[in-house]
Amino acid sequence: MNVVVCRNHVKEGLLTFPIPHARKLPEFMEVPCHFCKKKAKVKLFVY
Ligand SMILES: [Zn+2]
Repeated sequence: MNVVVCRNHVKEGLLTFPIPHARKLPEFMEVPCHFCKKKAKVKLFVY
Protein backbone atom coordinates (compact mmCIF):
# COMPACT_ATOMS: atom_id res chain seq x y z
CA MET A 1 0.00 0.00 0.00
CA ASN A 2 1.45 3.37 -0.95
CA VAL A 3 0.68 6.86 -2.14
CA VAL A 4 2.81 9.29 -4.09
CA VAL A 5 2.87 12.98 -3.22
CA CYS A 6 4.47 16.21 -4.37
CA ARG A 7 6.71 18.20 -2.04
CA ASN A 8 3.78 20.25 -0.76
CA HIS A 9 1.82 17.22 0.38
CA VAL A 10 4.45 15.12 2.13
CA LYS A 11 3.04 16.02 5.55
CA GLU A 12 -0.54 15.22 4.57
CA GLY A 13 0.63 11.96 3.10
CA LEU A 14 2.48 11.00 6.26
CA LEU A 15 -0.70 11.54 8.26
CA THR A 16 -2.44 8.98 6.07
CA PHE A 17 -0.40 6.12 7.48
CA PRO A 18 0.28 5.03 11.05
CA ILE A 19 3.94 4.12 10.43
CA PRO A 20 4.91 5.52 7.06
CA HIS A 21 8.17 5.30 5.20
CA ALA A 22 9.19 7.82 2.59
CA ARG A 23 11.35 7.42 -0.47
CA LYS A 24 12.22 9.93 -3.16
CA LEU A 25 10.91 9.05 -6.57
CA PRO A 26 13.37 8.99 -9.46
CA GLU A 27 13.04 11.98 -11.83
CA PHE A 28 11.85 9.89 -14.75
CA MET A 29 8.76 8.70 -12.92
CA GLU A 30 5.79 10.74 -14.13
CA VAL A 31 3.11 10.07 -11.56
CA PRO A 32 0.57 12.52 -10.15
CA CYS A 33 0.41 13.61 -6.53
CA HIS A 34 -2.32 11.82 -4.59
CA PHE A 35 -3.71 15.16 -3.38
CA CYS A 36 -3.21 17.80 -6.09
CA LYS A 37 -2.27 15.82 -9.23
CA LYS A 38 0.97 17.74 -9.71
CA LYS A 39 4.08 15.72 -10.44
CA ALA A 40 4.87 13.58 -7.43
CA LYS A 41 8.32 13.68 -5.82
CA VAL A 42 8.01 11.28 -2.92
CA LYS A 43 6.50 7.87 -2.40
CA LEU A 44 5.07 7.01 1.00
CA PHE A 45 4.44 3.42 1.91
CA VAL A 46 3.89 0.94 4.68
CA TYR A 47 5.40 -2.52 4.84
ZN1 LIG B 1 0.39 17.62 -3.98
